[in-house]
Amino acid sequence: MALPKLPVTNELGYYDIRMESIGGMGANLAGQILAEACILRMGYNGVNFASYGSEKKGTPVKSFVRLCDPAQEVTDNSPVENPHLLAVFAEQLIGNVPITQGFARGGVIVVNTTLSPEEVVGKLELPGCQVFCVDALKIAMEEKIPLNTAMLGAISRASGFIDPEAIKGLIKDKIGKRYPHLVEGNMKAFDRGYNEIKEKNYCDLDKYPEVPFHRVEPELGYVNEPIGGVITNPGNTILKNHAASRVGYIPLWHEDLCIHCGDCDLTCPDHCMVFEKQTDDKGKEMVFMLGVDYQYCKGCLRCVSICPVDALTEEVETDHDVNKIRADLRRVL
Ligand code: SF4
Ligand code: SF4
Repeated sequence: MALPKLPVTNELGYYDIRMESIGGMGANLAGQILAEACILRMGYNGVNFASYGSEKKGTPVKSFVRLCDPAQEVTDNSPVENPHLLAVFAEQLIGNVPITQGFARGGVIVVNTTLSPEEVVGKLELPGCQVFCVDALKIAMEEKIPLNTAMLGAISRASGFIDPEAIKGLIKDKIGKRYPHLVEGNMKAFDRGYNEIKEKNYCDLDKYPEVPFHRVEPELGYVNEPIGGVITNPGNTILKNHAASRVGYIPLWHEDLCIHCGDCDLTCPDHCMVFEKQTDDKGKEMVFMLGVDYQYCKGCLRCVSICPVDALTEEVETDHDVNKIRADLRRVL
């Protein structure tokens, strides 16, 4: 079978893919599978690598795939700055991480979202491009597997040249050896990601400018750190929003069931529970729970497991407006 020509390449002859994700969503593995399928099963030359800070679940992750003609050697192992295809695994990254940096006019973007392509274009202020939206989280939850397989189906479709059978064959071989019972769910999720995608071509859109890529430099480093220096932007403070750490689920508090025992507060690793001193109906001073501050919640759901009266339940985040039901921790500080 003749190898399909790469639809577009940069001046060095590469087709570049960048996946923007959160640790725990499987973007790193998706990049490996995509690269292996393209190289070993389709015949391209290429490379895959990833970039992440700590390996903690919930931190931003980037996974890169670079493809080229089999006659060309891959000599560029630097991170993808100007992707031809940009895949956004987590909608929560929008506004928290500059995910569209370097994404140029005419590119292809795949977003895991419940939004329509029209809404995504406006929300991300995308330059003229092809927009593909897929609710990979819903597919993953229904098929009971991680969302990266549905994203791979969507990426294959959006690319216009990556053979879905090459990826499916690779997934079958990789997973089938160790977890044969998961093959069927993965195949279904891949096909659903491929088929349930919503697509719109905005290549003629001239409303939003391209966002040039630039490397963010830390405010202080070894060059300018004062002696006995002060950390001016600590990693985990009241100023941070941990929403991007969640992978689709939140603990929902049911006030009518809560007995204000405080077990959830003892269990929560991020002190998300909001308690306040109040008087009960007998005039006795007590500490009452007011709810969960989702700004700091990473969705580990330990609080749901520990609650003795089911006053916290595991819920799908997109079914609720966390900004409306959030209890503000700053209120009691
Ligand atoms: S563990 Fe349950 S009952 Fe106890 S304070 Fe938390 S939500 Fe309320
Ligand atoms: S899911 Fe519960 S325990 Fe985990 S961070 Fe959120 S509030 Fe805390």
